[in-house]
Amino acid sequence: MIRMFRKLLTFDEAQAVIRQKLKPKRLGVEKTKLLDASNRVLAENIIATLDIPPFSRSTVDGYAVRAEDTFGADEKNPITLKVCGIVNIGESPKTTVQQGNAAEIVTGAPMPDGSDAVVMVEHTERIDENVSVFTAVAKDENAMKAGVDLKKGETVLKAGQLLGSREIGVLAALGLAKIKVCRVPHVAVLSTGPELTEPGKKLSFGKIYDINAYSLSAAVQESAGTPVYLGVFPDSFSELQKALKCALASADIVLTSGGVSVGPKDIMPKALGSLGKPGLIICGIAIKPGKPTTVASIDGKPVFSLPGHPTSALLAFHLFARPLIQLMAGRKAERDLEVKALAAMRMIPAKGRRTFIMVKLKQDKSGRLVAEPVPAGVSGAITTLAKADGFVEILENVQFVDESEEVTVHLFEMKAVRNAVASENACKTW
Ligand code: AMP
Ligand code: MG
Repeated sequence: MIRMFRKLLTFDEAQAVIRQKLKPKRLGVEKTKLLDASNRVLAENIIATLDIPPFSRSTVDGYAVRAEDTFGADEKNPITLKVCGIVNIGESPKTTVQQGNAAEIVTGAPMPDGSDAVVMVEHTERIDENVSVFTAVAKDENAMKAGVDLKKGETVLKAGQLLGSREIGVLAALGLAKIKVCRVPHVAVLSTGPELTEPGKKLSFGKIYDINAYSLSAAVQESAGTPVYLGVFPDSFSELQKALKCALASADIVLTSGGVSVGPKDIMPKALGSLGKPGLIICGIAIKPGKPTTVASIDGKPVFSLPGHPTSALLAFHLFARPLIQLMAGRKAERDLEVKALAAMRMIPAKGRRTFIMVKLKQDKSGRLVAEPVPAGVSGAITTLAKADGFVEILENVQFVDESEEVTVHLFEMKAVRNAVASENACKTW
């Protein structure tokens, strides 16, 4: 079968088609254990059902007192109070602080009735049943009143917030063991091609290891999705059809790689076209790299069939699939982190195509950030991406970006800038 690309969509058209035809929506809500809630999107408002702290407690080790009993005390003129008891942490106080009394207390223990401040142990001297206080304390000093952290009835977290360690701490403080979060899309990942061997197996002549299933699965995780690895499939129409049916039944999104170019074995588009409505919605995009990127919508489920070349596959994923996964996971589609840098050399785009040039960030002698293209080599090289810190996007109507022109570098990770700076500094130091 000889199949030419029918009509390449422009980058902007492809994005519009994905938005309109795939209509990314949140997937719904599920309950999760607090221990599994990190990096999930909260799907309910959280209203405090109790005060935090639930009772007034000491913030230091020392003596719970009536503040006014300490007024006038200093290093030279200590005031002596009678120790009326001890307050243990985690228990109701069994003592009451009357005028002239002090109760021994530890950090976090409940303030006993009658007391309204705590003198730090460092400012006291204990002699038998008496304690000398060498400093005055004000009312409420060294004590945390019930509800000062959170008041019962207060809305503490809102639906849509991303949960990190600090928010999870708040949920734990409220005693919540399970919470409602947005469901995360399950993304089936499969590779195609008879040349592919799974890592860990012996590599026979003519074969290569499957890179894409692994790099794409990691990219899915980085984009807040759950990858479901389905394995390697041959370029056979019936096998691919079967694999795709299975993927569609078990996942919310399907990612495939390979088999979408114009070779006789590139039968993925045909397999996709045979499965459900509306079927293929994008058959190639005028971008470089990533031109063969193919997208289908099959009975409401998105399928991204990415090029086989590892760099192209990952870039096309980043440009088109990642935002969709994030939206389905209840997040905003994250914008790339960007930095301005100077082009280290002239960058020439592919004619008529939105071009993405992988660059490494460096610092020049004057400390300015410079974007140096990573030699693309052959486009099958995975190392092109591994060596790059980000990419420069060149629009279709731009002839070239000249050396020393300012460019915007879209970063794969923020640490790239730190590395660029750190490695230069490291060179100077060592
Ligand atoms: P294709 O798009 O199937 O024609 O593949 C284009 C190139 O990418 C070929 O050199 C393939 O061997 C290579 N390729 C395809 N899939 C993978 C994969 N999963 N891992 C590594 N390389 C691949
Ligand atoms: Mg192939």
